[in-house]
Amino acid sequence: MSQFPHLTLTAVLDIFLVAVLVYQAIQMVRGRRAAHILAGVGVLVMVYLIAVWLRLELLRTLLATLAPYTAFALIVMFQSDIRRVLARIGQRGWFSFGSQLQRRESLEELELAISQLAEEKTGALIVMEREIGLRTFVESGVLIDAQISRDLLLAIFQKNAALHDGAVIIQNERIAAAACFIPLTMNPVSRSLGTRHRAGIGVTEESDCLSVIVSEERGTISLAYAGEIEHAVSEERLVEALSDALGYGVNKKQPRRPRTMRQPQESR
Ligand code: ATP
Ligand code: MG
Repeated sequence: MSQFPHLTLTAVLDIFLVAVLVYQAIQMVRGRRAAHILAGVGVLVMVYLIAVWLRLELLRTLLATLAPYTAFALIVMFQSDIRRVLARIGQRGWFSFGSQLQRRESLEELELAISQLAEEKTGALIVMEREIGLRTFVESGVLIDAQISRDLLLAIFQKNAALHDGAVIIQNERIAAAACFIPLTMNPVSRSLGTRHRAGIGVTEESDCLSVIVSEERGTISLAYAGEIEHAVSEERLVEALSDALGYGVNKKQPRRPRTMRQPQESR
């Protein structure tokens, strides 16, 4: 028993901080390509330990020689993720109050923009990214990377504006891009819907995002999540869904299905 060092307060704090870091790291890579790469690295480490244990000298030497190159390869592969994580640590402040206020403001601006678009019967499609990245779709559009603002959203979706065609994607509480092309759903249930609604549903079949669709024909607001659409939602429902989608990136809550999902109505 004496071979175990005494558990001091510093050691407890140390273990706690490492646990928090490991947890954050797992949360960040979960569901991403990085998770598979890290699993592969984990397997290599296991093989190395087994090689040491069984004294498989050739295998051990080979893995030990490759290790530094693997480290470089990982840095190259994860460069965008590393940049994002460092930026997030700098910007958000995990315990900061500022990020809460910022989130509330983003929510308000989004809600104001969506209600006004619906009132004016201006068609719009806004996709809110959650855990699963939508980078491919962001890259199909025009990069913006701006703070969420009502005026900017209204300007984007004006009928004769250059960027009105396609979807706006919200990523990390910012307008990442506009005029993005996203896949249409092939689900036969929604055959009666137009392309804007079908695109809004389609993107949610492939990821855990939330789509907000404003109909140009009817001036209604619909929400899509996990391949299902909820038509003509109320203001309260919109706010609830938006805050759920926005809050996710900060609090790392589990994604929640909108509560009252209905099948798309055949007659519109
Ligand atoms: P609305 O009720 O507003 O008329 P709708 O579901 O009937 O919507 P359309 O009238 O076909 O759909 O809407 C066409 C618009 O939908 C396009 O101008 C474009 O902005 C958008 N859109 C269509 N396909 C896509 C797509 N694949 N990705 C993103 N946006 C798309
Ligand atoms: Mg239409």
